[in-house]
Amino acid sequence: MNATLECLQGDIAHQPEFDAVVNAANAQLRPGGGVAGALHRAAGPALDRACRPLAPIRPGEAVITGAFGLPNRHVIHCLGPVYGVDEPADALLAACYRNALTLAERQGLASVAFPAISTGVFGYPPAEAARVALGAVIATLPDCPHIERVRFVLFDATGAELFRRTLATLQGAP
Ligand code: ADP
Repeated sequence: MNATLECLQGDIAHQPEFDAVVNAANAQLRPGGGVAGALHRAAGPALDRACRPLAPIRPGEAVITGAFGLPNRHVIHCLGPVYGVDEPADALLAACYRNALTLAERQGLASVAFPAISTGVFGYPPAEAARVALGAVIATLPDCPHIERVRFVLFDATGAELFRRTLATLQGAP
């Protein structure tokens, strides 16, 4: 894997160096709260209009739109699993990351920033989500030669530290 993979504290709506940012979307691709609220607020109503014909999406699925008022070229919208409801949760969460990266690769994008999908209102335990998310990205990047840089943007310092520790563990594994 030649791509850079990093985990930082920050706001997914303020990632100007990235070609695409990923939305932790709801099935209807509507604004809502959390990540979706932040991205739609920054993108403006044109993002909501672009999303409508693409909805609904299923858990694990990813779709791509323009980014409008955001400082990126695209938004990739993923529907994570609702923890304890959509099963198998780990496979569905991994599919979000794999499908998002595959879409970015097909568009020839070089950089993608992800939030921690499903760890907000969808209730996925953060430590398990970190393992699944980072494992899926590490497993998919070899099939994405255009992608040079992936960033996980965690809302708080604890989340960023958890993702950094998990990444170190996964990269240290034989
Ligand atoms: P889901 O519905 O997939 O659980 P949420 O948007 O509720 O998605 O939350 C996903 C994660 O993103 C949570 O850990 C939440 O704290 C975090 N989060 C919320 N807003 C932002 C933001 N603006 N930038 C980065 N992460 C955010």
